Amino acid sequence: MEIKNGIPVSPGVAIAPALVLDSESFRIPRRFIRKDEVDTELKRFELARAKALGEISDIRDSVHSVAKEEVGLIFDAHMRMLEDPLITKEIPEKIKTKRYTPEYAVSRVFKKIIKPIKEINDAYFIQRVNDFYDIQKRLLRNLLGQRAHDLTALDRKVVVVAHDLTPSQTATLDKKMVAGFITDVGGATSHTAILANALGIPAVVGLGTISSDISGGDVVIVDGKSGRVIVNPDDATREKYEVRGQGYIDREKRMFEAASKALRTTKDGEKVNLYANIEWDDEIELANRLGADGVGLFRTEFIYSKFGAHPTEEQHYDVYKRAHAMLDGRTLTLRTMDFGADKFASEVGLEREENPFLGCRSIRLSLREPHLLITQMRAALRASVLGPTRLMLPMVGSIEEFRAARVIFENVKTDLKREGIPFAPDVPLGMMVEVPSAALTIDSFIKECEFFSIGTNDLVQYTLAVDRNNQYVANLFKHTSPAVLRLVKLVIDTAVKNNRPVSVCGEMAGEARFAVILLGFGLRDFSVGPTALPELRTLLSRVTVAEAVELAGKAMALDAADEITDLLDAEVERLLPSEEFGE
Ligand code: PEP
Ligand code: MG
Repeated sequence: MEIKNGIPVSPGVAIAPALVLDSESFRIPRRFIRKDEVDTELKRFELARAKALGEISDIRDSVHSVAKEEVGLIFDAHMRMLEDPLITKEIPEKIKTKRYTPEYAVSRVFKKIIKPIKEINDAYFIQRVNDFYDIQKRLLRNLLGQRAHDLTALDRKVVVVAHDLTPSQTATLDKKMVAGFITDVGGATSHTAILANALGIPAVVGLGTISSDISGGDVVIVDGKSGRVIVNPDDATREKYEVRGQGYIDREKRMFEAASKALRTTKDGEKVNLYANIEWDDEIELANRLGADGVGLFRTEFIYSKFGAHPTEEQHYDVYKRAHAMLDGRTLTLRTMDFGADKFASEVGLEREENPFLGCRSIRLSLREPHLLITQMRAALRASVLGPTRLMLPMVGSIEEFRAARVIFENVKTDLKREGIPFAPDVPLGMMVEVPSAALTIDSFIKECEFFSIGTNDLVQYTLAVDRNNQYVANLFKHTSPAVLRLVKLVIDTAVKNNRPVSVCGEMAGEARFAVILLGFGLRDFSVGPTALPELRTLLSRVTVAEAVELAGKAMALDAADEITDLLDAEVERLLPSEEFGE
């Protein structure tokens, strides 16, 4: 039995055998074979090697005809590597003596080859490492064939173990078969984490080397609340976690019941609106069941991953139409595409950038390629006759950007009018406040921007210079940093004073411990992942505005993030005591 600790990102307990994906998302099957399987497996490896050689030879011949001879030489070198005894002898040796599957033998031997070369920090050797990766991938692809990426055809419950999962891989996980997932990298507000929550799959990220430490078939416990992962547990531990998993499910039920009976206001009758953050339209069903007042953030990037880089106006429109039908008259807040950095960059074929989080992402990309924005705005406006619609721009950093997008928006309306296509005349254009420059100059946006939603996931990342996806700095990602809190307070104060709707839609809004301070800052609109709704509803119905203001005042007088967190946690314990809501 082995215990590891990572970053908990989606609560619940999963207990199941591991399905391990390697760093290229290849699914490395069971790592040992029987004695009587050795010959067949050796033949399978030889066949894969021969196929790889054939492929490289074909590529070499085709480049010879169109490129210089030197380019062809690269492929000659690849062919020589495949003939090297490390590959022709050592891999079969491992299959024979250690009884590794060929896939596992390939991944072990390549790890051994690559590690020392990687340590030589030199451009020439980095290129050699890439060559080895290339050959490894080719061998694995030939060994695994169609099975390589197939996470959809699972026939039993598993815990998926991977170096990383892309948002689209996460989105396609089969909830019935994937009991949980764990990854080497990632942070609490990464997109993979947000999606795990949306799917209700227990998950822990940032576990370092878990994908190479665990073997396929090992039994794994994932505790998505504490971040603990236990490999091959003994019977007593397994039982303990089975009880804990049930405790978690029971708590959810109790919270749901409490929320159904709770006021939709604070204890002293102040109305609070709880909206849902969604990634795809189907989630509205869950949001409705859990009592959402509407959708405060529709991350529309999924439309692009579903339909490809350029969904048509009609494809956008159909999704928005379905969303309105499910919302039945409640507000739908559509965020325009927010690609780049961690979000679907490869799906839409974005160029690789040196520093993508500071690169051409999101609104910057929309303004560089306005046709994408125009298509989306046309569809959103057309759908606005079906229900109240708001359009929200992500990552706005300056008033110039907002104005440029406004011009496009007004032009789209003029076009629709000219074409005789109906739309609601009063669709508000708002923005996410998630770049510190926008938060600091919020007063200059007030006249022109019709509503604001604070994206704390990016706001924390950019204010504190802490990558939201990086496990090594996850301990520095603090919502209660006084710098972050001052920015959040400034935006809420300014918006409230000027009668502009303001919400928080980052993960901060969905965590019980932050709800009261946000209320105390003057926030009345929260937008959160649907599963957070019952707890938030219950908590807010038990506190008065005066209590919240007092707590916010106390918190802002403190200098250290951790002291503030302790203060906020004590308030949650007062409002949702462990005796009532413990697991
Ligand atoms: C945010 O940054 O807080 C936010 C809500 O947007 P996303 O998580 O999609 O970047
Ligand atoms: Mg964001």
